[in-house]
Amino acid sequence: MRRRHDRVIVAGGGPVGSVATLLLARAGIPVTMIERADDVVLDYRASTFHPPTLDLLEESGITAALVAMGLVCPTVQIRDREIGKVAEFDVTRLKNETRHPYRLQCEQFKLVGYVYGELKKIAGVDLRFGHEVTAIRQGEGEVVVEAEHDGERVTLAGDVAIGCDGGRSTVRKLLEIPFPGLTYPEHFLIAGTRFDFRAHMPDIASVNYTADPVRWFMLLQIPDMWRILVPVAPEISADDAVSDESLQSSLQNICPRSDDYAIVVRAIYRVHQRVADTYRRGRAFLAGDAAHLNNPLGGMGLNGGLHDVISLTDRLIAWWHGRADAAILDGYEPQRRPEAINAIHAITARNKKLLEERDPEVRARNLDDMRATAADPARSYQYLLDSAMISSLRRSGMIR
Ligand SMILES: Cc1cc2nc3c(=O)[nH]c(=O)nc-3n(C[C@H](O)[C@H](O)[C@H](O)COP(=O)(O)OP(=O)(O)OC[C@H]3O[C@@H](n4cnc5c(N)ncnc54)[C@H](O)[C@@H]3O)c2cc1C
Repeated sequence: MRRRHDRVIVAGGGPVGSVATLLLARAGIPVTMIERADDVVLDYRASTFHPPTLDLLEESGITAALVAMGLVCPTVQIRDREIGKVAEFDVTRLKNETRHPYRLQCEQFKLVGYVYGELKKIAGVDLRFGHEVTAIRQGEGEVVVEAEHDGERVTLAGDVAIGCDGGRSTVRKLLEIPFPGLTYPEHFLIAGTRFDFRAHMPDIASVNYTADPVRWFMLLQIPDMWRILVPVAPEISADDAVSDESLQSSLQNICPRSDDYAIVVRAIYRVHQRVADTYRRGRAFLAGDAAHLNNPLGGMGLNGGLHDVISLTDRLIAWWHGRADAAILDGYEPQRRPEAINAIHAITARNKKLLEERDPEVRARNLDDMRATAADPARSYQYLLDSAMISSLRRSGMIR
């Protein structure tokens, strides 16, 4: 594969695209990053970083920054609304498998803010904020991306392009790559409050998944607040779902109190389980949400996207600097796509089923099984390896 332009183009500067840009730029590869927004988007979606993601990003300095900005959470609980704690998993047991045996909570916009800051320090990185990708075409030995900026068309050429432009990826659509899967009928609502849940529910962990046949929820501690994630029935409009009344009802349902909750964050999302049919067309690649989407129960979407760009940039860097021929790029999709299906989809779908199960018998059986898993040292260890994404990365050869 010839190089005409000596440049990689990254479309989308969210967490996945910005990290890809940084990893390439640090390796001496000229990069253009094209981001529609003018600056960091205040996005509260992802906050969980799993142990091997932190191991893999250690050398780049990103892990130290995340740890400094984040909250270390050693345990994860599975709970039931009526029963309370059902099972607790101690991530610190993984200390012989990882240098970061915990879940780290740090909002994704903080990662992006840090990475933008680092990118601005590297001479020659071409950051195009306020640019929206509108077209992509591939010619002899090049990929050409068009973007709209202040109503003007800007044309940028490179040797390789990476579409990191999120779930609605323009790049994926322009490349005509199908994105099969499902969209859940319900919305997922996030509310953040500084209320101290632990003072009222002393046995909770920082990460809690609570099963309930009607109103399951996730309760998560992030550095300066607690966050809940609840499903919203399909018949309720997004506007009604984020109303004060709806948020107060969801919070009161978790921990009843006489006062209203002070709500500092509210957001609503549609959630999908989808994987692109291919992660590559010629010189154009897909990574992150552009390539795969999943429900947030397990905190795996962004982690998986970061694993994508760690795999892809390692390969690009080896090819660029002549340490491998272009065939190394062929290994990207086989390394990453099966894990989006076998690990990320399988585990997040399993987690959702566990929380929302309505049949009382199945529900009791599932909770008994969780209890038994937590009580059995070998089974709980395997559960930890799987839910921390260590099994997936080992299977795909990204870690030993
Ligand atoms: C409620 C919720 C909670 C979640 N929690 C977690 C979690 O704890 N852990 C986890 O691992 N994952 C989590 N996720 C998933 C995570 O948020 C996503 O996987 C992650 O944001 C994907 O990053 P990305 O960079 O691929 O895409 P995005 O974050 O969507 O970024 C895409 C970027 O591309 C830009 N862009 C889009 N179109 C264009 C265009 N045409 N031209 C130029 N730029 C463009 C956008 O402005 C944006 O900056 C959660 C998701 C949800 C819904």
